[in-house]
Amino acid sequence: MGFLAGKRALIVGVATDRSIAWGIAQAMHREGAELAFSYVNDKMRERVEPLAHSLGTRLTMPLDVMEDAQIDGAFELLKREWGGLDVVVHAVAYAPREAITGSFVANTAREAFRIAHDVSSYSFTALARGARPLMTGRRGALLTLSYLGAVRSIPSYNVMGLAKASLEANVRFMAADLGPEGIRVNAISAGPIKTLAAAGIAGFRKMLSRVAEVAPLRRNVTQEDVGNAAAFLCSDLAAGITGEILYVDSGFNTVGMSFADESAPSG
Ligand code: NAD
Repeated sequence: MGFLAGKRALIVGVATDRSIAWGIAQAMHREGAELAFSYVNDKMRERVEPLAHSLGTRLTMPLDVMEDAQIDGAFELLKREWGGLDVVVHAVAYAPREAITGSFVANTAREAFRIAHDVSSYSFTALARGARPLMTGRRGALLTLSYLGAVRSIPSYNVMGLAKASLEANVRFMAADLGPEGIRVNAISAGPIKTLAAAGIAGFRKMLSRVAEVAPLRRNVTQEDVGNAAAFLCSDLAAGITGEILYVDSGFNTVGMSFADESAPSG
């Protein structure tokens, strides 16, 4: 029996089979969770539904996190179908493309700042508000996805770094607020993975090669690496963990300095 047997999880953020949320869904399915999926619009519905069906679920719903009515609708549907909910995975981020390239100061317009924070941070609070009544009396878990740009400057990541910093603070405030009800709130700070969202960040390929060069494990992380950690964090195996940002990044964030690879055989 898997360690998520009997758990019901809403997965928000699948766009393609390369999405981090899809890696998480696969790991959670393998560990016995029952899943529901959302899609942001009709175009994404066509991609998400076949993926959901491949894991044996028909429970899918529209959910644009900028629309309060759609958030309400999603949790009403889950209440009708399931009665309760154990897990929400929030794997959603967006910033206008012109804001995630070049000069941070020059390219961070007020509207881009607002949108990035609304979609990438506020939405986690909004989903928690919807999920909270469905998690009463269960050991609920909320999980989001962050990146190192929350705590270090990274070329081109720009306003998204500020939104991730807000998201990480969100994790701590939500953990404090919901902990007395037995609901845990955590984030995974993942290393770079080639996905649709990542393709929007200028110079993303350079990030991948830098990690493979410098990280202690000398490789990039996979959807499976993140999926397994996410399944653990949302399970009762992690019952004592909340308000935490867990790095799944081959150790990249722990390196203070690196020189050209000296472990390579010489001569
Ligand atoms: P992805 O493009 O596969 O997923 C991003 C998702 O956000 C998509 O499903 C998209 O539909 C959804 N989304 C965007 N705007 C939305 C809205 N208004 N309402 C609802 N959904 C919306 O890319 P991904 O890399 O899997 O991103 C998932 C999460 O992981 C994001 O928070 C991202 O910042 C984070 N992350 C990604 C990386 C990476 O390198 N790929 C690294 C660290 C963290």
